[in-house]
Amino acid sequence: MAKNRTFTMLKPDAVEKGHIGAILEKISASGFRIVAMKLTQMTTKDAQNFYAVHSERPFFADLVEYMTRGPIVAAILEKDNAVEDFRTLIGATNPADAAEGTIRKMFADSISENAVHGSDSDENAFIESAFHFSGREMF
Ligand code: UDP
Repeated sequence: MAKNRTFTMLKPDAVEKGHIGAILEKISASGFRIVAMKLTQMTTKDAQNFYAVHSERPFFADLVEYMTRGPIVAAILEKDNAVEDFRTLIGATNPADAAEGTIRKMFADSISENAVHGSDSDENAFIESAFHFSGREMF
C-alpha cells in the first residue's frame, strides 16, 4: 500500500477539555507521521465553506457555531492507507456508536461535539489540507 495523507482537526471541544496531548499521543502511537500542524481558529466563513456539503442539513448552523467557538488543532497525517485507517482510529460520527478504543469513544460526548475530524476520501484530504496549509507548511 502506498503512503498517503489525510487531514484532521482536533475540534474546539477536544481543545477546551485539554485533550490535545492525549489525542496526538494516540495518533502517533497508531503509526501516523505529522506532516503539518497548527493551532488555529476558523471564521464563520471558513466553517461554512469547509462544511458546505452539509449546508442544507438541520444541524448546519450549530455545526458552524461549534467549529468557530474556539481554537482547533489542524494537522496533516501520513501513513499507508491513511484516510481509511484514520477513520477507523477516530470511530463512528456518533461516539455512542464508536468502537471501544477509538478517539471518539474515548474523548467525544455527542454526535455534534465529537472531538475530531478525519477526511473521508483522498480527494477531500487534499482539498481540506490545502484549505488550512500552504505548501511551505507541509514537511
Ligand atoms: N454532525 C452533527 N449532527 C449530525 C451529523 C453530523 O452535528 O447528525 C456534525 C459532526 O460534528 C460531524 C460533522 O457534522 O463530525 C460532519 O458530519 P459527517 O456526517 O461528515 O461526519 P464525519 O465525517 O465527521 O464522521
